[in-house]
Amino acid sequence: MKFYFPDSQDLVDPSFDFATEKRSETRIRQRDDLYAHELFRKPPYDGMLVSKAIVEGSGGSTGRYTLGQQRRFFIEGVREFMRLPDHLEVMGDCGAFTYVKEPEPPVTVEEVSMFYEECGFDYGASIDHVILDYRPEWDHCLPGIDAVPDDCRQRQEITIELAREFMRHHRKQRLSFEPLGVVQGWSPKSYSYAFSALQKMGFKYIALGGLVPLKSNEILQVLETISPKVRPTTRLHLFGVTRLDHVKRFAGHGVVSFDSTSPLRQAFKEDKDNYYGRNRTYVAIRVPQVDVNVKLKNRILSGEVKQSEAFRLERECLDALGKFDRRRFQRKALVQLLMEYQELCGATRNYAAAYDELLTDRPWKDCKCTVCKELSINVVVFRGAERNRRRGFHNVYVTFNKLKRIRRKLTVA
Ligand SMILES: [Zn+2]
Repeated sequence: MKFYFPDSQDLVDPSFDFATEKRSETRIRQRDDLYAHELFRKPPYDGMLVSKAIVEGSGGSTGRYTLGQQRRFFIEGVREFMRLPDHLEVMGDCGAFTYVKEPEPPVTVEEVSMFYEECGFDYGASIDHVILDYRPEWDHCLPGIDAVPDDCRQRQEITIELAREFMRHHRKQRLSFEPLGVVQGWSPKSYSYAFSALQKMGFKYIALGGLVPLKSNEILQVLETISPKVRPTTRLHLFGVTRLDHVKRFAGHGVVSFDSTSPLRQAFKEDKDNYYGRNRTYVAIRVPQVDVNVKLKNRILSGEVKQSEAFRLERECLDALGKFDRRRFQRKALVQLLMEYQELCGATRNYAAAYDELLTDRPWKDCKCTVCKELSINVVVFRGAERNRRRGFHNVYVTFNKLKRIRRKLTVA
């Protein structure tokens, strides 16, 4: 079971100084920054997933890459641009979520194929159109009643037709990347129908899309329905799914790979579960930046909060965290100080109990990853992209190591 990490231009700046919060003045973004596979001794994934829409933008939205970066991406190819070690594989897709609201995908088979081929991808996904509804009950309508909305059927037909065109083009042009067929559906039977169509077209690697919002048992229902049809030579990929508890069952249904950004995003997008410990997750400690935090800036502008007071407490929190890490500051006093600052920031949530648990366990001391060793307590501080993204990288590292343990067990079994 391989884990692909989706690229969203998530890099960290190695020149960033966590004490002064300053960075090298000569730093050039991306070129001097580090990807997760460069930060750790061994890359924390088997490969990367790169969306055409992230690189170039799509449907009126701009991509994550500057024009200069886009140009370099095309000249150097994806491997050189991302400085990928030889053993990492790279999968390309269209980034269907960026155009989910459009009536039709705004890209052509020729454009997408050229992107994969010219940039040196190992695998390239066919163009799909995401179906947002998942309604298994539509499989059990009374005879003569069709509950499935036209929009769902149209999106599935578009996805199947584009896969057919993609395969035809791939054969005719004798392209070198392996084509990955994408399936969209709204129920186990509809996924199964689309899967059969793509397998018949000759796809040996087929991805199931639209699974992100599904519960694990729903994903398993889809897989169970498809499973009897999967030929021994066909491999499955799951888009946007990390359910390590189910890896064994997924593998039993022919799944060989998945991708997910959630270990990274949980670090700074979620309220809790920001830091992956060995046996549980923890909340990260919020120390907002006075000059960046919008809520705090507004409170200062309205006169509710004195700016000097905000700066003083911010500094005190950071100093106290450092001292606590060196066992020179009491836990209770630290939590109290953090609460004082949070109140000043106008926070509505009270994290005192969660902070107390985190500070009692000190889970960053147990982690052997480069990030935790270098940052120590800073890895659990929710503040700015350099800390938050590194915490995300740590989560990716933990996820990958868990997966590797599961893989070893599966091999032994
Ligand atoms: Zn770590």
